[in-house]
Amino acid sequence: MANIKEDRRSFIKFSTLGILGLTIGAGIIISPYALNAETRLRPPGAVSEKEFLALCIKCGQCLQVCPYHSISLADMAKGHGAGTPYIDARERGCYSCTAVPCVLACPSGALDHSCEKPADIKMGVAVLEFPNKCLALTNTLVPKGHSKRIHDFTNAQNNVTQLERDMLEKLDEFEGKQCTICADMCPIPNPLNAIAMIKDGIGNKPEVYAGCIGCGACEELCPANEAAIVIKPRLSYDDYYVKGIKS
Ligand code: SF4
Ligand code: SF4
Ligand code: SF4
Repeated sequence: MANIKEDRRSFIKFSTLGILGLTIGAGIIISPYALNAETRLRPPGAVSEKEFLALCIKCGQCLQVCPYHSISLADMAKGHGAGTPYIDARERGCYSCTAVPCVLACPSGALDHSCEKPADIKMGVAVLEFPNKCLALTNTLVPKGHSKRIHDFTNAQNNVTQLERDMLEKLDEFEGKQCTICADMCPIPNPLNAIAMIKDGIGNKPEVYAGCIGCGACEELCPANEAAIVIKPRLSYDDYYVKGIKS
């Protein structure tokens, strides 16, 4: 009898340690993915990340109605949250459509229908993360072919829209000029509330204001080899610029 008790104690001890070990092991493996999911830029109206992952039924309706091809569904390689929609801002930002059709199309509540207009969108906030790459700050003219990456992405889509063509036409006009792309292409109705170029040393630099919605168009269109301005997903202007929360 004593042996049986001892065996049970050992079994419980070692299975608990085993489960603990597995949990820690899995945590080590999963955590980078979980972290990625936490910092992923979600479409307009996305509820908190935890609720979003629980509510989204991965139906793809939001991306089907997006006229800019801004939204993709995460594949397995993206880890945690496979099949959920996200925006890769460097590839294609959101252009804050007047009626926010992606939100209207969402049947699950993952994109909150109280997000009805661009001013309601709160995806994140833009940050001049790499000032040494900013063409305006280093007084470098916008180079020839700067928009090729963006043309290539657009041309790869099946159904290029007139809105995308208009955006590209406007972007191409910056070639050979002083760079003001992030400020002048900011798609929200009152862009001066979000971003403006200010004098800084030998050049100018973009300054971000509280009206920024984190749509990511500036990150997409930045003509530097690597975007000088990037989006901090799910952070507000206050979080980043007032409270100093960096991620
Ligand atoms: S607001 Fe418009 S551009 Fe932005 S993700 Fe929704 S449908 Fe696409
Ligand atoms: S429409 Fe809503 S439920 Fe469907 S994939 Fe997009 S966010 Fe998820
Ligand atoms: S500065 Fe404008 S373009 Fe850039 S994320 Fe903010 S709202 Fe979007």
